[in-house]
Amino acid sequence: MALRDMFIALSENKVLNEAAKKYGLKMGAQHVVAGTTIEETIASIKALNKQGISCTVDNLGEFVFEKSEALAAKEQIINMIEAIHNSGVDAHISLKPSQLGLDIDKAFCLDNLMDIAEVAANYNNFINFDMENYARLHDSFELMETINAKYNNIGTVIQAYFLESIENIEKYKNLRLRIVKGAYKEPSTIAYQDKATIDANYISLIEYHLLNGSFTSIATHDHHVINHVKKFAETHAIDKDKFEFQMLYGFRTDMQQALAKEGYHFCVYVPFGSDWYGYFMRRLAERPQNMALITKQVFTKKTNIAIGLTAGAFLLGRLSKRTK
Ligand SMILES: Cc1cc2nc3c(=O)[nH]c(=O)nc-3n(C[C@H](O)[C@H](O)[C@H](O)COP(=O)(O)OP(=O)(O)OC[C@H]3O[C@@H](n4cnc5c(N)ncnc54)[C@H](O)[C@@H]3O)c2cc1C
Repeated sequence: MALRDMFIALSENKVLNEAAKKYGLKMGAQHVVAGTTIEETIASIKALNKQGISCTVDNLGEFVFEKSEALAAKEQIINMIEAIHNSGVDAHISLKPSQLGLDIDKAFCLDNLMDIAEVAANYNNFINFDMENYARLHDSFELMETINAKYNNIGTVIQAYFLESIENIEKYKNLRLRIVKGAYKEPSTIAYQDKATIDANYISLIEYHLLNGSFTSIATHDHHVINHVKKFAETHAIDKDKFEFQMLYGFRTDMQQALAKEGYHFCVYVPFGSDWYGYFMRRLAERPQNMALITKQVFTKKTNIAIGLTAGAFLLGRLSKRTK
């Protein structure tokens, strides 16, 4: 658990996020990030489409506290929607409200989201609201509901570690939902902590939405869950057009291709841009072995030192808390 906490703390470190922007992607992070530019990303999407895999595209970005940054992110997302349309690839958009100004001003964020949703609707594209940490959960749902009342091209995410996830899946059962285990560190007052409990709740939510809800995206790298869903769908005669599996770009690619070949709908989450550091640290928090995906070059001497210092400070902080 200490390791998970450490990587989550690193993902939230603004200085390291900035450093990684300068030193990162060109040195090997392409294993988990599809491109820094829209053109490179469209090429990666085309390659996945050729394997029968569709994509959901995420413009990477963290720590947006300036309106100018949120507006730049909006422009980039709109450009991506246009590029998807012009190139004819099979892809839709995933976005994070915090990148579009949620932490600055909710009304400003709503305006940005409305602009994006309108362009997406014009191009017959779909927008998925990714869900972040609990502090942003209810605001994000509220924004999503407001947008969905005007455009019906919106879906969202249910995170199984939240105690309230069962209420939310019932509430949003008419939406296309991506169901995940949950990636952030949350306290026990609001979130299950134990892996077995989270996994069991994850299965219950998936089964509920498959039986009662709209389209289900099962977003996991966990083969136990995937095998369970395959059997469950067969037993309950759930049509393959009612659900899809999702995985992150670059993870378990053999399994991605195998599932697509078996005739399941498969969608890859495709992150792009230079702001990859926080995203990657959360992947390490989930599974430290993911480090093996990354070439040694990703971390230069400079970033290694910075990461080492931060990790050290973080662990010291934990130890000192323990002795208090
Ligand atoms: C497409 C997608 C979108 C997501 N969107 C969100 C979001 O909006 N909000 C959010 O909070 N979280 C999101 N997540 C992250 C999610 O919440 C989990 O943190 C993350 O997926 C890790 O959990 P898991 O279900 O993949 O499996 P885990 O619980 O991490 O792993 C279970 C088991 O699966 C196997 N396994 C897992 N990964 C690998 C691997 N790379 N190679 C080999 N075996 C492996 C291992 O046996 C492991 O023990 C998303 C995840 C995906 C895939």
